[in-house]
Amino acid sequence: MRYKISVDTGGTFTDVVVQDDRGRVVIGILTDMFGWHLALGAMGALGLLAALGFVILLPASRNFVRRPGFQLSYHVRAWEGHLRHPGLPFVFLIGAFAMGCFVTVYNYAGFRLSAAPYDLSQGQISLIFVVYLCGMVTSSIAGAMSDRIGRGPVLLCRRTPCATQGMTTDMAMPPIEKFGSEEIKDKYLRGAIAGDLILSLGITEPDAGSDVAAIKTRAVRDGDNYIINGSKVFITNGIRADLIVLVTKTDDSTGYDGFSLFLVETDTPGFAVSRKLEKLGMHASDTAELSFTDMVVPAGNMLGEEGKGFYNIMWELQGERLVAACGAVAGAQRVLEMTMEYARERQAFGRPIGKFQAIRHKIAAMSTKIEAARQFNYYVAWLVDRGEYPVREISQAKLFSTQVACEVTDECLQIHGGWGYMKEYGIERAWRDMRLNRIGAGTDEVMLDVIGRSYGF
Ligand SMILES: Cc1cc2nc3c(=O)[nH]c(=O)nc-3n(C[C@H](O)[C@H](O)[C@H](O)COP(=O)(O)OP(=O)(O)OC[C@H]3O[C@@H](n4cnc5c(N)ncnc54)[C@H](O)[C@@H]3O)c2cc1C
Repeated sequence: MRYKISVDTGGTFTDVVVQDDRGRVVIGILTDMFGWHLALGAMGALGLLAALGFVILLPASRNFVRRPGFQLSYHVRAWEGHLRHPGLPFVFLIGAFAMGCFVTVYNYAGFRLSAAPYDLSQGQISLIFVVYLCGMVTSSIAGAMSDRIGRGPVLLCRRTPCATQGMTTDMAMPPIEKFGSEEIKDKYLRGAIAGDLILSLGITEPDAGSDVAAIKTRAVRDGDNYIINGSKVFITNGIRADLIVLVTKTDDSTGYDGFSLFLVETDTPGFAVSRKLEKLGMHASDTAELSFTDMVVPAGNMLGEEGKGFYNIMWELQGERLVAACGAVAGAQRVLEMTMEYARERQAFGRPIGKFQAIRHKIAAMSTKIEAARQFNYYVAWLVDRGEYPVREISQAKLFSTQVACEVTDECLQIHGGWGYMKEYGIERAWRDMRLNRIGAGTDEVMLDVIGRSYGF
């Protein structure tokens, strides 16, 4: 027996109809997304294959990422493209659900066919539907797995994507290690070091950014617990974090002595993600606004002494600023290297653009500034290593390195010409990502203020 398959793409929906040789409708599909779901299915199948590949190649990939100089840009690019968007599984699942709703197998008698039917055998029709159904299943599975893949053990840091790992390792963990009780360290640091826990740091509030002392999140003692109420904004990892180091106010009457730090589990009742914030760059990490309503936190989760929170978080910020300075220099170096490569290859007016004096001088100036920033950072790191607390030099390092890095990234984008504005070379992402460094962990203006005040002004 021969079957005819017809596709009617007119009207609101795409209709796919299979008729037997007597013209009876055997299968009818009413969908506005038939083709889309086939594509989705193929994507899902590829996603599944990729996931299996990751698992199979895991030992090799671990060694690979351990290699010196390995860039995580491959993964970051994927996350940057929202492949790991937290809503992705839902997109896939909703797609599959919608398809399930639209696909109806029934007698389709009386339907008007508008496209010329193709003659297909029973086997060909079966094949189309097997592909179609496989697509539905694999897209659902791959969708559901996509979040796990992103957090997967292919990354050294296991559950934590490396792009957001810095928040865990360099910002949230140091205060736990420095001020937490042995019990706290034992309970949480192991998981954090293993990469099984994602951490975040909550300082900034809607009405208190540079002016940390203006925060309003309040922790009030209640027996063996503290009740925390308030909100935070711009919190990196805020959506995915398992734990948050929280800066709170415990006493209104004592000025800088009225702040305390807590380590809070994000599944504590009263903890809520108010919204995910959309941002210019750094798309491989999430940034959120959080709220806390009558959150009960054990007193044992306080980090350091009550009333010492302001000083303790200022200590944390020194480390964060030095890390930002070093990261900015590393980023600038990478972007410069990419640009030098481009300047060797790209031809204009019959020669590589790097041979023009204008470009050559830009490269020379950039490499000089990067080197100066790097050497200054080494010096500051050496001071810290000697046990000093060089607030002025750390602020100078952060200010100078991040400004140099932003300047370099901008010039490198310019050297890439039109391609710099496109996504192909990764320069536009570096340009967007780099900008945060002059704002986060203390803005340029705040750094200047700290440096100026360190001279007694
Ligand atoms: C992507 C991203 C991620 C972040 N992640 C976190 C996080 O994980 N945890 C967290 O707690 N915070 C986080 N932040 C917040 C960040 O630390 C603050 O944005 C920053 O400290 C500036 O605060 P603000 O945005 O409130 O700006 P404001 O303090 O409102 O400053 C606005 C402007 O005024 C200037 N200004 C302020 N005070 C002075 C002054 N005294 N003298 C001169 N100029 C001044 C500033 O330099 C700035 O130009 C993040 C921010 C971003 C953008």
